[in-house]
Amino acid sequence: MDELKKLTTSANRLKLLHESGMETLEDVVNHLPYRYEEVKEIWPAVDENMCVEGKVLDTPKVMFLRNHLTRMSFHVLIYGEEYNVAIFNRHFLSKSLYVGRIVTIEGKINAHSITAKNVYLKTLNELSGLSPVYSLKEGLTNKVFSGYVKKALKLIGDSLVDFTPVEFHESHHLLDKKTALYQVHFPTSHEDMAKGMNTLKYEDFLKFELTMQYIKIQREQEVGVAKAFSHPELNKFIASIPFKLTKDQQKAVLEILADLERPTMMYRFLQGDVGSGKTVVSAIGLFANYLAGYQGALMAPTEVLASQHYVTLSNFFKETDMQIALLTGSLSVKEKEDIYARLESQEIDIIIGTHALFQEKVHYAKLGLVITDEQHRFGVKQRKALKNKGEAVDFLVMSATPIPRTLALSLFGDMDVSEIHTMPSGRKPTITKYFPGRSMKPFLRELLTYLQEGGQVYVICPMIEDNEDFALRSATAIHDAMARYFKGRYQVGLLHGGLSDEEKNDVMNEFHVNKIQILVSTTVIEVGIDVKNANMMVIYDAERFGLSQIHQLRGRVGRGSVQGRCYLLSTSTNEEAIERLKFLETTTDGYDVSKYDLKLRGPGEVLGARQSGIPTFLGDVVADFDLMKLARDDAVRMIHDYYKYGEFGEDIAIIKQNLKTNNEYVD
Ligand code: ADP
Ligand code: MG
Repeated sequence: MDELKKLTTSANRLKLLHESGMETLEDVVNHLPYRYEEVKEIWPAVDENMCVEGKVLDTPKVMFLRNHLTRMSFHVLIYGEEYNVAIFNRHFLSKSLYVGRIVTIEGKINAHSITAKNVYLKTLNELSGLSPVYSLKEGLTNKVFSGYVKKALKLIGDSLVDFTPVEFHESHHLLDKKTALYQVHFPTSHEDMAKGMNTLKYEDFLKFELTMQYIKIQREQEVGVAKAFSHPELNKFIASIPFKLTKDQQKAVLEILADLERPTMMYRFLQGDVGSGKTVVSAIGLFANYLAGYQGALMAPTEVLASQHYVTLSNFFKETDMQIALLTGSLSVKEKEDIYARLESQEIDIIIGTHALFQEKVHYAKLGLVITDEQHRFGVKQRKALKNKGEAVDFLVMSATPIPRTLALSLFGDMDVSEIHTMPSGRKPTITKYFPGRSMKPFLRELLTYLQEGGQVYVICPMIEDNEDFALRSATAIHDAMARYFKGRYQVGLLHGGLSDEEKNDVMNEFHVNKIQILVSTTVIEVGIDVKNANMMVIYDAERFGLSQIHQLRGRVGRGSVQGRCYLLSTSTNEEAIERLKFLETTTDGYDVSKYDLKLRGPGEVLGARQSGIPTFLGDVVADFDLMKLARDDAVRMIHDYYKYGEFGEDIAIIKQNLKTNNEYVD
């Protein structure tokens, strides 16, 4: 039976409630205002806007206009002066506007004539306070909905599950859930509302953090395999790497090796700014895993990136006996089957590829380590699927959108975190500059000189709302114009999502070997590409990118000792958009960029909600970070107490419910 029928018998309103996303009474009370309106005196007017009390001086006149429009006018006395008030479509108020009545008028004023937006039949005093504004389907007013909330709270108020332990109410200055909801829906002051909201945000964070901690402890309880490998052998390999590891790389390596040697499953998040050198860290992990007698798999988000990893790792491992293979969609059926067979017989030690690595038909003889590149999270579900491919599989997830450690621990609480802050020495920070417009003129001379000296250039066009078609048109147009301009001098290539993987690979390879000097590309280029000779990048319509995305993109240049340059073109006249782009001129630190970006767009956008599995929170992970951190610390303690004392009561059921809704049920 439809619970909402307890609120209204109107079929139409029930339909509107359902269409606004509500099915139960609990949904109704949890449908929070997204902002508040406040009626307070604005007098004298500010920029013609006014809001003031007045005394009605005459009986309103109503005029019926075309299209059912009405215009009502009357006179009022405001602070001893007479004004004329006009308002449209409120003729039904005329009966209530008797002479001498005090009303509150909100609207615009010009000399002594007011065009009202609202005429309230109340004094300012009666009106004062916050009125919630809800996101609702047209036809449902805030006032009507408020009535439903009140009714729903009465009906279920005491049976609401308060997730926050009572003892936290006092220590954290929180309210009980029912009071919190009342204060958010029916605030009597800003302060009350904020306090109520704070309680709800905390609870929301706590649920998430408990879920994360629950997943983590479940994993830690699972029996894994302690991998034993020869340290001298491993050190010999590390010594063969043509550069010295940075301090942070060394630290990350030690953390990973310790995990491998421990008899629990590793689930580690390795974050480091773009270009900080995560690949070599993963290579060392893979080698240790190999020495222990296990196979390793490295999963990249795209085929182009997988191919590149294959080349890089083959190079790292060239002095070893390790067998390494690349599995891509562009292989023939026969080649694929050959790889499957060699994986099953453990002739292949390391396999690199995309999701294809974990298709059903792929069987591993002895899979021990799975590494994903440019991912933020590997959901429990995904891990479960992969675990079936091997018995003691450890996981390492590498991300190039680094976020502050404390935030990473809160957002990815089920993982352990390693991070690389330092860049390999000799790197010059990429110079970033914003240019208004869509023309390369301001830096054309520089570009020509750079090409003449033998450099290569990326030209990036945005993809809009997943509309690869627009990007394609824009990239194609730019490609054609540049190809004409540079005809006979430089080769201009075009890379976009419409190409097959094989074609993309071909274009990338030509760029790698400098057959192409200028590569015009949509954002398919974004992740991981490493072409040392390409040190200049031009980004068109830069305002359409997220800041973290531009940071990723510019991480493609300046990867060796040559100065990298990234020029941002934008036709936007929006001041905020320009300010954002200019922010990138001021820092090359990915942690700074992500912090700024998180504040603007939130984690779902910055980290990609789909891959990262991050829910949207009631609170703001930047503005309310302290609250989130508090919730995390509480969750860590609560889960440990649960395991220690076995007392968790109903909460565990809620956690499981939460896991289910996150599509990550573990049992
Ligand atoms: P990312 O963290 O973005 O994946 P990569 O692993 O691709 O970065 O490394 C970027 C570049 O830096 C590569 O060309 C790599 O060979 C080089 N590199 C990595 N570590 C070091 C180091 N310690 N010293 C010098 N160069 C390094
Ligand atoms: Mg990388």
